[in-house]
Amino acid sequence: MTDLSDVRPGRAEGDSWDITESVGATALGVAASRAAETAQPEPLIRDEFAFLLVAAAGPAWAQLAGSEPHWIGDDPEAHRIHGIARNYQAVRTHYFDDYFTEVTHEGIRQIVILAAGLDSRAYRLDWPAGTAVYEIDQPKVLHYKTETLQAHGALARAQHVPVPVDLRDDWPADLIAAGFDPEQPTAWLAEGLLPYLPADAQDRLFELVGAHSAPGSRLAVEDFSMDPARYTPEKRAERRARGEQMRASLGLDIDVDALMYTDDQRADAAEWLAAHGWDVDAVASVDEMARLGRGADADELAELGLDSVLLRARLDGVTR
Ligand code: SAM
Repeated sequence: MTDLSDVRPGRAEGDSWDITESVGATALGVAASRAAETAQPEPLIRDEFAFLLVAAAGPAWAQLAGSEPHWIGDDPEAHRIHGIARNYQAVRTHYFDDYFTEVTHEGIRQIVILAAGLDSRAYRLDWPAGTAVYEIDQPKVLHYKTETLQAHGALARAQHVPVPVDLRDDWPADLIAAGFDPEQPTAWLAEGLLPYLPADAQDRLFELVGAHSAPGSRLAVEDFSMDPARYTPEKRAERRARGEQMRASLGLDIDVDALMYTDDQRADAAEWLAAHGWDVDAVASVDEMARLGRGADADELAELGLDSVLLRARLDGVTR
């Protein structure tokens, strides 16, 4: 029997998008959370570029990125869910910001952000002199970001190298053509990416990262668990309906669930990397949220599709 909650009308092989379309809009969504967090009285992270990057996409997006979600109306449940999602995004940003501080202290000067979206780390983190930050994403997404930041006079704090290419294509060739040196240790990041890749594309991505990682390279990943026992079709349907309701109040027609590949036997990222020679250090998002004072209930995170593992891995030899 076909399970309608697993139908993905929003994706096709080789699909592409602009910032407000399809998977591009998810970059606006997470940047809106970073903007809202930045505007909190005691923010866990500060992304001073997030609001302007989101607001440039139009008034509805600007509302989404506002400090208070007035657009939700007076539904307390919707406010609660919005708060959990904002806390989740703040904690994951904090985790990966911290990762970059760690790798630069180790002496790594070559950074590759896979599916960079509206990530502004090249502009907002304190990079040591000589650091190059390569950003891979779809061409229109990267163009939107660089144009918007330029228009606001933002200056990158590292050598910033956009690499417009699809991660399902031969992206290493483009990365190398842009100046990337596979002989140098690299710190890679895959944040907010894996659910948007089919399972085999995820394996291929990790294989290519490994094949282009000199000894001493690092990799950080956000791996959503999508545990079918907890993230049931009913829960997904519920989340979709609520999401639809919330977006309708803003006039945004984006269905994130329809963009994800969740019905496959996807490899567990930590297990896959450990089996291929990486030394992995992982933490459950629920534990990291508790540690940073943004605790959430584990079942609830799972029901919202926010149950993930955040991991940092190191490659001391070569991949197997
Ligand atoms: N990493 C960024 C962050 O956390 O702010 C963006 C995350 S956003 C949820 C997902 C991003 O993945 C989008 O910018 C989208 O364009 C990018 N993406 C998804 N699939 C991709 C692919 N096959 N090739 C290149 N980029 C892709």
